[in-house]
Amino acid sequence: MPSSDEFTGWVGMDAKSVEGNLVKTTFNPKVFTDDDIDIKITHCGMCASDLHTLRSGWGPTAFPVVVGHEIIGIVTRKGKNVTQFEIGDRVGVGAQCASCLRDDCYECTHDNEPYCTESTFTYNSTFPGTDDVSYGGYALEGRYPASFAFKIPDALSSEVAAPMMCGGITVYSPLKRNGAGPGKTVGIVGIGGLGHFGILFAKALGSEKVYAISRSKAKEADVIAMGAEGIIATQEPDWTKGLSRKFDLIVSTANNSDMPLGDYLSILKPGGRFVQVGLPEEPIPQLGFFPLVLMNVSLLGSLLGSRSEIAEMLEVSAAKGIKSWVDTYPMEEVNEVLKLMDAGKAKYRFVLCN
Ligand code: NDP
Ligand code: ZN
Repeated sequence: MPSSDEFTGWVGMDAKSVEGNLVKTTFNPKVFTDDDIDIKITHCGMCASDLHTLRSGWGPTAFPVVVGHEIIGIVTRKGKNVTQFEIGDRVGVGAQCASCLRDDCYECTHDNEPYCTESTFTYNSTFPGTDDVSYGGYALEGRYPASFAFKIPDALSSEVAAPMMCGGITVYSPLKRNGAGPGKTVGIVGIGGLGHFGILFAKALGSEKVYAISRSKAKEADVIAMGAEGIIATQEPDWTKGLSRKFDLIVSTANNSDMPLGDYLSILKPGGRFVQVGLPEEPIPQLGFFPLVLMNVSLLGSLLGSRSEIAEMLEVSAAKGIKSWVDTYPMEEVNEVLKLMDAGKAKYRFVLCN
């Protein structure tokens, strides 16, 4: 049984909620345990995953749902085992809010919590061994295990930090794990919320050259301001011409499977890596064997990032003054902002504020 406590949020009741039909009402959060914190939510970024979930695009969503997993809030209550936070601390919660964290779990003991068999997402998930449902950040309050909350460095404003909690870490982790850094040429496919962080973080990690790989050149001035060398437009004829063996690493945030996957692979160096983080609702496009085999390239996927990578990303961002490109809106206007987001108007993240 969930708790009888009542929190208030913007609740999706069915798959039509994606059209701007969230209902402001109460919901019952998980049972409060000694390991949990309650937070007063001040900010929540809007991730494309929120839309996929609201429209049941990845399979049936367990409605009612409260989406939002780029959460910043102030600790208002803490369980007695919580020693890392004080009441009043400003914390962030991302897209994963629990894993088993047991000493005998290989993933949890090897900085790989997203792949724990008991990983719990921040919304549309159930806490293992309970009936408690997880509820996200389009809300006034939230309740989460403290072990998946992170202190936000003073140098980062809440609207800058919020979208890093999912959008930022989802590209920071694969860039780091796949060698973005000095001497490397990195491509970022899809310049939306995740993609703009891809450019910012690939540069912050010291990559020699970073290119945006977008459908058109419409975002050229923006990506150069973010630190990219230039933009490559895949809708132009013969777009791969002159790009053979150019990239050590490509991270793709593309949110639609109508993408030239074989062409993306064809511009990697021998041994290069292509990491897909975008999660379109349709299956992966058909791919010949030649692009993979002839150049010894790797086709990989990646989910979120570990807790230590999240803490590191926040420190790096604070130290290097990295600024997310955001537009803020009152959370009360979430239904209007959902429509803007669905129409691809975010440049590059919408952040809802209470
Ligand atoms: P956005 O909508 O902000 O950005 C997506 C970008 O995808 C667009 O800006 C566009 O870039 C590009 N795109 C759209 N259609 C196509 C197409 N047909 N071919 C190539 N590129 C295309 O979304 P987010 O950045 O918030 O999220 C991106 C994806 O990542 C979503 O599917 C989301 O669910 C997923 N995700 C995955 C996570 C993980 O752990 N792996 C975590 C968080 C999100 P452009 O205009 O430059 O072409
Ligand atoms: Zn997300």
